[in-house]
Amino acid sequence: MRAFRFESLTLPPEADAMRRKVRVFLEDERANRRYAAHRTSWSTFDPEFSRRAAKAGFIGMTWPRQYGGGEYSNLERFVVTEEMLAAGAPGGAHWIADRQSGPQILKHGSERAKELILPRIASGECYFGIGMSEPDSGSDLAAARTRADRVEDGWVINGAKIWTSNAHRVHYLIVLARTGPPGQDRHAGLSQFIVDTTSKGIEIRPIMNLSGGHEFNEVFFKDCFVPDDMMIGKPGEGWTHVTGELAFERAGPDRFMSDIRLLVELINKVGHEPNERQAVEIGRLAVHFATLRRMSSSIAGLLEQGGTPVTEAALVKDVGTAFEREVPEIVRKLLPMEASLDDEDEYSQGLAHVLLHAPSFTIRGGTPEILRGMIARSLGLR
Ligand SMILES: Cc1cc2nc3c(=O)[nH]c(=O)nc-3n(C[C@H](O)[C@H](O)[C@H](O)COP(=O)(O)OP(=O)(O)OC[C@H]3O[C@@H](n4cnc5c(N)ncnc54)[C@H](O)[C@@H]3O)c2cc1C
Repeated sequence: MRAFRFESLTLPPEADAMRRKVRVFLEDERANRRYAAHRTSWSTFDPEFSRRAAKAGFIGMTWPRQYGGGEYSNLERFVVTEEMLAAGAPGGAHWIADRQSGPQILKHGSERAKELILPRIASGECYFGIGMSEPDSGSDLAAARTRADRVEDGWVINGAKIWTSNAHRVHYLIVLARTGPPGQDRHAGLSQFIVDTTSKGIEIRPIMNLSGGHEFNEVFFKDCFVPDDMMIGKPGEGWTHVTGELAFERAGPDRFMSDIRLLVELINKVGHEPNERQAVEIGRLAVHFATLRRMSSSIAGLLEQGGTPVTEAALVKDVGTAFEREVPEIVRKLLPMEASLDDEDEYSQGLAHVLLHAPSFTIRGGTPEILRGMIARSLGLR
């Protein structure tokens, strides 16, 4: 059995300096009415915003300068992420590329992939989607049936992915595919590929979400060619890389701050004289938030030391997304109203939007059952 590592962390002075810098940037954005605060900010796709954020140095922050990065620490990146979310900034276009695809390419990609792609991500021009889930294997990634077969100079992909967020508007997907038999170890024989979404042999079909919006898709691959140097790592390393990627995907403040603007609006609406129930509920949420923030910043510290805190990340994702699902429910109880997307009132519209999106918070990136299974295994309970 292993213990979780959540060491308390004091942010260094350079992280405070970075916080001041990103706040100035965001204040300027708002003062010039370049964006309206979004309640589900990191899902909101706005390439213009991403380009401005890149120009100010807020994308690819930890990467080497050679690839367009800023050579900042994970802790400086952490404060930028939380300030972007707190301000409701629409970072959805670059979010996945910056959070996990870029780091994955930097760590395991070919030199050509690094040179071709990383500087474009860092300049806010190149966006990524995640091609993991399949129609019959969302939670059970090792059961992936999408195949990649060896051909001269590369691989040919056949199969299907589902729930692929933004596939219709990103430049690349990182696709998990089977390149060999599972054998004794069902995690063996998988590999990851960087697939250009404009390649021949890709068909992207929309799936509408609960609120009628087009965010995710089904993606079909029919003899889609991928050159050798767009494989991530070596054949058969897919499972290890996916697992490492999920540490980046699950631990950040985006796993408990998706709807933080709604909480801020609640606090503003309640004002300085809350009734007892409002004070208790808001106080409870604030304490949960502070705890999650400490856990998440502690993981940023572990990433900074070169660690892969997969189980800690699963814990943050489970507790964090439970928190962000609770926010709209509590808001609705404390300030009862009939929320509607068609309402003129911005608050009612915003609440309706979050209520319709919140069920997905605990599903995307791994369901609670799967995360708790991982945590239990790590504690030696299964
Ligand atoms: C908004 C949104 C965006 C998404 N974006 C992406 C994306 O960009 N790329 C991508 O690849 N995927 C994406 N997903 C897919 C998401 O990761 C999967 O939906 C999720 O992993 C669950 O898979 P599934 O839907 O196939 O459900 P299933 O795996 O069929 O699970 C159904 C239910 O059974 C439970 N269950 C499954 N296996 C077990 C088990 N072993 N033990 C206990 N319970 C179990 C699950 O917890 C769940 O409650 C997105 C999902 C959403 C909602």
